[in-house]
Amino acid sequence: TIGMIALDEHGNLSGACTTSGMAFKMHGRVGDSPIIGAGLFVDNEVGAATATGHGEEVIRTCGSHLVVELMRQGKSPQQACEEAVKRIYKNFVNQNRNVKDTQIGFIAINKFGETGAFCLQKGFNYAVHTQENNVLIDAKSLI
Ligand code: ASP
Repeated sequence: TIGMIALDEHGNLSGACTTSGMAFKMHGRVGDSPIIGAGLFVDNEVGAATATGHGEEVIRTCGSHLVVELMRQGKSPQQACEEAVKRIYKNFVNQNRNVKDTQIGFIAINKFGETGAFCLQKGFNYAVHTQENNVLIDAKSLI
């Protein structure tokens, strides 16, 4: 998935995402990317979030909506992404499923332009562009 979330000079938030889906997917499968609230969610009062990885898990938790709602409750974008990934991780543990079979990552931005990202497994980079510079960041991960 390629997910983009932005805050413009007027303080308005926006987002977009696109994906080729999963390798060897079932014919007709719909992943998280086209589902608002799962692969992408923007609330202009609070923040925006987008997801990458195992779409079925993101759909089950309304992942991007969850991240935005956590920011509404006062979490930073970083904290919100971490909590959403940990919730999905907990589902895996509770169901005795192997977490190595999955990958989940979120990026988020809030109304103040603060950004954050978190991934289940290592190896997830994201870019932050501001008027001053472009930075590629290695996201923190759970495992
Ligand atoms: N989230 C996508 C899907 O499940 C996969 C991806 O990250 O590209 O369809």
